[in-house]
Amino acid sequence: MELVNLKDSSDTASFAEAVKRGLGKNQGLYFPEKIPALHDIDGLLEKPFVERSIEVLRTLIGDELAEGELNAIVETAFSFGAPVEQVNDNVYSLELFHGPTLAFKDFGGRFMAQTLSRISEGKPITILTATSGDTGAAVAHAFHGIENINVVILFPKGKISKLQEKLFTTLGGNIHTVAIEADFDACQSLVKSAFDDPDVREGLHLNSANSINISRLLAQVCYYFEAISQLPKEKRDQVVISVPSGNFGNLTAGMIAKAMGLPIKRFIAATNLNDTVPRYLKTGEWDPKSTVATISNAMDVSQPNNWPRIEALIERGYIDKACLKGEMVDEEYTQLAMRQLAQQGYTSEPHAAIAYRAVSHDLEEGEIGLFLGTAHPAKFRETVENVLGNPISLPKPLADVAGEDSLAVDLPATYEALKQHMMSLLKP
Ligand SMILES: *Cc1c(COP(=O)(O)O)cnc(C)c1O
Repeated sequence: MELVNLKDSSDTASFAEAVKRGLGKNQGLYFPEKIPALHDIDGLLEKPFVERSIEVLRTLIGDELAEGELNAIVETAFSFGAPVEQVNDNVYSLELFHGPTLAFKDFGGRFMAQTLSRISEGKPITILTATSGDTGAAVAHAFHGIENINVVILFPKGKISKLQEKLFTTLGGNIHTVAIEADFDACQSLVKSAFDDPDVREGLHLNSANSINISRLLAQVCYYFEAISQLPKEKRDQVVISVPSGNFGNLTAGMIAKAMGLPIKRFIAATNLNDTVPRYLKTGEWDPKSTVATISNAMDVSQPNNWPRIEALIERGYIDKACLKGEMVDEEYTQLAMRQLAQQGYTSEPHAAIAYRAVSHDLEEGEIGLFLGTAHPAKFRETVENVLGNPISLPKPLADVAGEDSLAVDLPATYEALKQHMMSLLKP
């Protein structure tokens, strides 16, 4: 697989190089030189999830990973399913929250951890990542206990639920967590500063596990195939997929699946009040505002870092611009959607509810809607209980950490403080 830096076409990388580097020169994102088309999609859709995913990934990545190696990576990473649940006559939910940290980020996080530990051949690596909640937990669990890989996770202090925080701040060992006194965008910009600083980048062999890492995106392509395989055959070419979006990694992966030939009719990019993309799609003007806090906090992002890849998918002719709509759902309608889902017997959380709301109002005659269930409702227990007025029970991964102490360190939002902390912690 050949990848090219979207900011500098002279900066190219193999799959392994792009996975190790994360970002390219000038903080440019790596993008496939060519997205290969799959043949016999119907046949592929008949296969079981793991076997099919190996084929999809083999087509994308090529022969860079030995066959046995890719098989082992996928079998270890995708050890849980992605069931589709029917919500009403024409709307379905793709449940991506059956992994160890109960959010879709387990797919990308685990695939990346397995890939990286195999391609780095025992050389020490430091993963540095910012999280608004779910990434941190997925990355922490995926890398916990992997030899020669240290993980540093920054998160906005007090801006994610206590329970969510416990999922990744209680592991210890090679997992180091830092509470930054600022919002998520500030955490993300600290990560960028570290990658710009050769002392840290080279001294600690930095790697980012954000949704900018190409391995995470490629892993996520696989569950779009899984979704279509579970929908009624006669409706397969009428599917509208609504993606609750923050950094737009999930939507990018869906578009790559479509570019490979998966019959997805069109996409809806559903956001909360942080609606840079829906406004851009309507007005043509890229005008990010300051980030506002919402109940769908994993989507509180006003400068989505995967957006250049979506632009590239459109500019390079893989995706017709008409296949993408943006929709903003405010706080009141998010709660309304959660209640409407509950009335149909489906308990959901704010992120998925936003995508449900966006798609259920947009379907045309003959279409069916699929929204991504990006997290388990118990991950947002307080909000869900407040909105629905019913207690919900904790699944095992959350119940297990609820009583444990956080091991996170507090830091101000300055790069100097972060650098000092990381160097003293990790410099050999
Ligand atoms: C990360 C996350 C999102 C946003 O996904 P992106 O790929 O960043 O657009 C949506 N919902 C939940 C629950 C998440 O954790």
